[in-house]
Amino acid sequence: MAVLSEVNYRPNVLRLLINGEWLESESNEFLSVFNPATGEVISKVPLASKGELDRAVDTAYEAFEKWKNVPVQDRVQYLFRMKHLFEERSEELARINTQNHGKTIVESRGDVRRTIDNIEAAISAAYVLMKGTNLDQVSEGIDESTVKEPLGVFGIICPFNFPLMVPFWFVPYAIALGCTVIVKPSEITPLPMTYLADLITKEVKLPPGVINLVHGSKETVDSLISHPKVKGVTFVGSTPVGRHVYKLAGEHGKRAIVQAGAKNSIVVMPDADIDFATESCLASTFGNAGQRCLAGSNIIVTEKAHDALVRKLTDGARAIKVGNGLDETTQMGPLVSKKAKERVVQYIDDGATEGARPVVDGRNLKVNQNGFFLGPTVFDEVTPDMRIAKEEIFGPLASVVQVQNLDEAIEFVNTSTNYGNAASIFTKDGRNAREFRRRVLAGNIGINIGVAAPLAYFPFGGMRDSFFGVLHGQVDSVDFFTDRKVIISRW
Ligand code: NAD
Repeated sequence: MAVLSEVNYRPNVLRLLINGEWLESESNEFLSVFNPATGEVISKVPLASKGELDRAVDTAYEAFEKWKNVPVQDRVQYLFRMKHLFEERSEELARINTQNHGKTIVESRGDVRRTIDNIEAAISAAYVLMKGTNLDQVSEGIDESTVKEPLGVFGIICPFNFPLMVPFWFVPYAIALGCTVIVKPSEITPLPMTYLADLITKEVKLPPGVINLVHGSKETVDSLISHPKVKGVTFVGSTPVGRHVYKLAGEHGKRAIVQAGAKNSIVVMPDADIDFATESCLASTFGNAGQRCLAGSNIIVTEKAHDALVRKLTDGARAIKVGNGLDETTQMGPLVSKKAKERVVQYIDDGATEGARPVVDGRNLKVNQNGFFLGPTVFDEVTPDMRIAKEEIFGPLASVVQVQNLDEAIEFVNTSTNYGNAASIFTKDGRNAREFRRRVLAGNIGINIGVAAPLAYFPFGGMRDSFFGVLHGQVDSVDFFTDRKVIISRW
């Protein structure tokens, strides 16, 4: 185990990728980009102008007219190249991810693997799921069939927490199917995707305009959604912004997949293997420093298991080594920004004020760096009315809630919050698990799994305030990026 060297990638100012060329933005609005482990500014990101966004869309629109006519097996060859390239360069991609996001190198390596998984799934989807259907002789001498066709230009709007993987829940599917894209990374973590897009430009040599990348924030997103040449957008981010994106997309008649915020619960039944459940709760709550839409946040435990679980959670949380993610012995990195850290500290203050019992207090952590570090926090005696039980915290804070039985646990999951991204249960009883799976209002269910993350070959989406739309991310997006024509023919 070693402290890894940084990849030397600190561009002064990030550029925009339009029509295969990296252009300096004409904008005079810039935001600083940080390394959260050191607090240093490592780059600046421009907020692209409306004119630049328009150029990117025009380019993608022109590219689409040619790209949709490239035979599918030729389009897919670019994705094979991408897959091999990402595999060869996975370590530097992972380090850049850690340098900008703060997560541990092990977590970043996982993100790169999930990114590649999606390329592989898109390759197989392009061949299999793009096929149409045919029914011969629906009437005398008449056949009826369907074909799928790519729809056009799509905006891919991304959150800060998985800078590589989230864009790839959509980008490889869109381009495999013949669409073109404009990616808008998070302005907080724009480096990994910019670096990746540069690798693609230099080494995969996709035709210009198939993948474009613009930087920006609200204005860029709004212009992208309302642009007449954009067919639709995918959005992954918080619920308030997701609601706005879905509404704006609707007003402009655009397709939208909106994967939004979360507040996830883990239920631990008395019959569960408590050691295993504790390890899973720790990984779920404190992995990625809690900045994961599938992170466990409320840990709901029945009376009999309560004391043992809290004792083990406390010991486990105290033992987590917090530090720079490039140190291979680090188990939890910093929060992504000073603002994100202050937000979570406010939740810890609120939890204490509202009467929850702090058993581990992350505010006491001392790490010898200027980064945005906060230690794991565990609150016991949390009740449904408390903010820490109801709201998305997006940080390393576990709230333990005691209930009497499975019915009360399910009631808590379904009523303490209106989010519905993920929920897990730890039990050895199949009936408990089945009951939970059927009654819980969440899109991703874990049974003896702490982070219910669907693989690329499955759809990714939530319920209630965690998702707006119909079709989900990952392989489900095949239907999002295409439309069907019905052909009825008589000869
Ligand atoms: P965010 O909503 O602040 O930003 C997401 C994107 O929207 C960014 O690209 C940002 O530039 C843009 N944006 C921000 N404000 C905007 C506005 N007012 N109008 C238009 N666009 C705007 O989200 P974030 O903080 O980057 O990411 C964390 C959130 O993402 C959490 O809520 C988390 O649960 C959620 N998330 C959800 C999933 C999922 O699959 N459901 C996955 C990852 C993250």
